[in-house]
Amino acid sequence: MMTKSRNRDHLNLLCDIGDLAALLTSSSNIQNFLQRTAVMVAKHLSADVCSIYLFDRDARELVLAATVGLNPEAVGQIRMKPGEGLVGCTLVKQQPICEGSASRNPLFKYFEGSGEDRFESFLSVRISRGTENIGVLVVQHEQRNYFDDVDVMALRAAAAQLASAIENARLLMEMNHPKTSELPNASATAHLKFIRGESASGGYVQALSTVFNKRLDWLLSEPSEADAGYTLKHFHRAVQLTAGQLQELQSRVAERLPESASLIFTAHFMILKDERFIQDITSHIEKGVSPPEAVRMVARHYITMFTSSPYMYLREKASDMEDLTSRILSNFKHLDMETPPLCRGRVVIARELYPSDILKLASEDVAGIVMVSGGVTSHVSILARSMRIPMVIADRPELLSLPEETPILMDADIGNIYVNPSEIVIQQFEERNRIKAAASLLADDMLPITETQDGEHVHLMAIINLLGELELANHLKAEGIGLYRSEFPFLIRSSFPSEQEQYLIYKRIFDAMPDKPVTIRTLDIGGDKVLSYTDATGESNPELGLRSIRFSLRNPDIFEQQIKATLRAGADAGELRIMFPMISSIDEFQEARRQVMHCLDELERRQLPHHKSPRIGIMIELPSVLEIIDELTAEADFFSIGTNDFVQYMLAVDRTNDKVAEYYQPSHPSVLRGLARIAHAAKRQSKEVSVCGEMAHEPPYIPFLIGVGIRVLSVTPQFLPSVQKTIRSLSLSAAEDYASRLLSASTLRATRDIIENFTPQSAVV
Ligand code: PEP
Ligand code: MG
Repeated sequence: MMTKSRNRDHLNLLCDIGDLAALLTSSSNIQNFLQRTAVMVAKHLSADVCSIYLFDRDARELVLAATVGLNPEAVGQIRMKPGEGLVGCTLVKQQPICEGSASRNPLFKYFEGSGEDRFESFLSVRISRGTENIGVLVVQHEQRNYFDDVDVMALRAAAAQLASAIENARLLMEMNHPKTSELPNASATAHLKFIRGESASGGYVQALSTVFNKRLDWLLSEPSEADAGYTLKHFHRAVQLTAGQLQELQSRVAERLPESASLIFTAHFMILKDERFIQDITSHIEKGVSPPEAVRMVARHYITMFTSSPYMYLREKASDMEDLTSRILSNFKHLDMETPPLCRGRVVIARELYPSDILKLASEDVAGIVMVSGGVTSHVSILARSMRIPMVIADRPELLSLPEETPILMDADIGNIYVNPSEIVIQQFEERNRIKAAASLLADDMLPITETQDGEHVHLMAIINLLGELELANHLKAEGIGLYRSEFPFLIRSSFPSEQEQYLIYKRIFDAMPDKPVTIRTLDIGGDKVLSYTDATGESNPELGLRSIRFSLRNPDIFEQQIKATLRAGADAGELRIMFPMISSIDEFQEARRQVMHCLDELERRQLPHHKSPRIGIMIELPSVLEIIDELTAEADFFSIGTNDFVQYMLAVDRTNDKVAEYYQPSHPSVLRGLARIAHAAKRQSKEVSVCGEMAHEPPYIPFLIGVGIRVLSVTPQFLPSVQKTIRSLSLSAAEDYASRLLSASTLRATRDIIENFTPQSAVV
């Protein structure tokens, strides 16, 4: 069957690929690398055709990236979904496909104009790294039954060797030739009309779109004729203008976000002041390169370096560099006029955002955000809610290919996105908005005390993420602060805030709520709350890693600074509470409490004014404490159940992973029974237990929580009116009945049925 005499040269093939891959680091022409690889594989296997398809992560499609033997014009044009045709099947089945007569295989898909109809033998292997799809390597031959098992093995080995080189190649290709990944634009997005996403931060927006990482396009675009008209003087002027604009943005952010102080654009300023950066550009200009191209060249160099770093904080610098360079380049064009901020008034579509990106976008007055990955309980979503930026999460990467300035209507209250909305849709929304504006007067009707119909007092406390929310919390008559997420000032800066900086932040909180309980939660970083300036420890499973109280106990200096800042800032506070997140055992709690005692001693010794008797509490977020709940509740002064994490850990579902969002079910019987068990244990010990996290404001769960004995709910301030309204519509006995029906249900379907059939009226006896 095989032509045994043909020239197979498998060992040399592997050596040559190795050589080519080594050259790649210095090669600027990635396309050329892929092409040369295809030529080499075809030659070594004596194949008529060799093609390399790369997996486009945005569009979730395989794209022909290089070929020898097929029509070269098909490069970038042939695209297929996983599972489509023999090539797509190779990806899905994760198995080589060796077909002696491809045209007879029903899966074979012929692409018009590719010229592949005459090749009968087909052999393909998946190119992958671990579980990640990188692409498919294909060889073809006119002769039937041409490839054999040895070829399969050789092609597999070649693909394995190619995987990491292609991964790098793809990264560089995206950086150098962003237009190749843009090919699907018109066709891939034409079908986008209505998208159902998940609401991460409510609101209604009608605006034009812009894709966040698209800035890279013009940053890395080819030199244009207009560039030649600029001089070194123009470059310096553009840098000066950029510095001025950043200064202004910075002060605007500082106004809205006092805790961010002036630190958000630190990296930008550092780069602008970096002599090497300026010098490199200047020397290119002096050698005759046009100033915009010199900026692009140097920026490209840094971005490539940062992007390929394994460290998150350096990768984040790439986006700072990208942002800064876009601003400088844009200032060449606007040397004599005001440049509008890049995202002002736009709906920004993004794949990934750091907390600091949200702040930058807020400083530019972005209208709304669509993220194509992430979870609604992730901290980027929480930050968007605090900043009142409407945000929807939609697992539709095609959105990243939408042409700039596409009209978008976003109903972020329920997560709907309309692309190019019709007049009728727009009118409907405007009408709904008018009704909503009238309903928001509800805030003025807030009562200072929240009671059920039968007079049971439920304390409504505020969750504060940003200092800017304190005013609303007071306006809406919160009875205190049930949770201050103290990591936010850490998250939005580019370095650790000092003890004194923390003191000033916490002081503003105590000052805003002088006679009310204020609960400061100690640093809860890790998981999805990554500080860009601490070296990401490269944890493969950060949600189960060195996070939260574990981080604090492992870094006693940071922990003590925070405790001391809190105790000093709350010197005159009525009721100061310190709460530890993610406590997994009694021992861990005792160790954390010892640190507080140690800080109290030290402040006493140094005779610094401080609060002398803080109440010390625990966040219940881990299922491990359920079995020791009686002893644990005896130990601490108060408890708060963090339902976001409790659900995550109870059900082993990453709260930020939209792929498993359907498993994230607060109505799971184990979650409900766990919550009831905690509430009962606290009651037995006469200890206060509150609920924070999203469940605390969701109408189906409020009666349940009250029914199992919870009397304190902590919610973000904007939810206070609706939560009060729900509670006022309830009677205690109906809530207890609802809770006991839910607790006796043992399946998700059963709990869901009970929840769906519940109306506030049904809870009124
Ligand atoms: C929670 O886990 O429910 C909680 C309130 O904490 P965070 O969302 O900050 O993790
Ligand atoms: Mg939590």
